[in-house]
Amino acid sequence: MFQRERIADGVYSFQSDIYAQVNAGAVIGPDWVVVIDTLALPEESIAIRNFIEQEINMPIRYVINTHSHADHAWGNCFFPGATIAAHSLCRENLDTKGRASLEAIRKINLSFKNAHIVLPQMTFENGEIKLQLGKKTLKLFPLPGPCSDNIGILIEEDRVLFAGDAVMPLPYIVDGDYDETIATLKLISKMGLENIVQGHGDIVLRGEVELFSKENIAYLSSIRKVVRDSARRKYPRDVLDVSNIEDCGKSRILIGGLAPELHHKNLLALYHQMYGEPARALEDDDYYEV
Ligand SMILES: [Zn+2]
Repeated sequence: MFQRERIADGVYSFQSDIYAQVNAGAVIGPDWVVVIDTLALPEESIAIRNFIEQEINMPIRYVINTHSHADHAWGNCFFPGATIAAHSLCRENLDTKGRASLEAIRKINLSFKNAHIVLPQMTFENGEIKLQLGKKTLKLFPLPGPCSDNIGILIEEDRVLFAGDAVMPLPYIVDGDYDETIATLKLISKMGLENIVQGHGDIVLRGEVELFSKENIAYLSSIRKVVRDSARRKYPRDVLDVSNIEDCGKSRILIGGLAPELHHKNLLALYHQMYGEPARALEDDDYYEV
């Protein structure tokens, strides 16, 4: 169901085999455990809980949500007794958009029948919170970009960063901010990290962080150029619809094959952000000139 990896002593990541290579994690203290994110499906959240309770044999005291998206925070309800921690915007988004979309999905997908939204009880907006597990210090801090409610969790002694969707193999800016995404990529390349657990995709190792950050910034520059070029045409949408992700320096197979679809959404969203209106397509015209 998921691939488990031991990243450092007492630090695990779990990568979903089912949905978009989404990642979660766990940090094991002397007496209790912190879980970071909950994966996409109820059965995956329960499998994380079972691994910790049965194989690590410790209670889960905290669950941290990196942000409010379904594949990171809807599993909160499967960790009863744990305190949920997140950014205050994450709490707000779960309470509004999250509740509404889970309600809609429960009607069509039986596997969510026992799922319900559990809101974070512990939130912050600016600055940072520190959580001490024996010798490990977890620093929670805002890490916006692709979504404004995103936080990072840095295990200070191990230099391991759980970055949520602020870091992905393909930056996804549809719900977020283009410039903040670039600022976050620049920041992580200067943090002296051993590993980054991205919101989705493989772990980024120390020797790869700088190149990873550069390549993602290059991708963001490429899509801005594609959007600018399209804006010179009468029907920009028709240009954006045929843009090839590989021409922007990224592989089609990233994020479990979702990359081309996310690339297309990035272009439409960036056009909207830059020009304040959706990109116009030929078929939007009432009549065709001949
Ligand atoms: Zn995600």
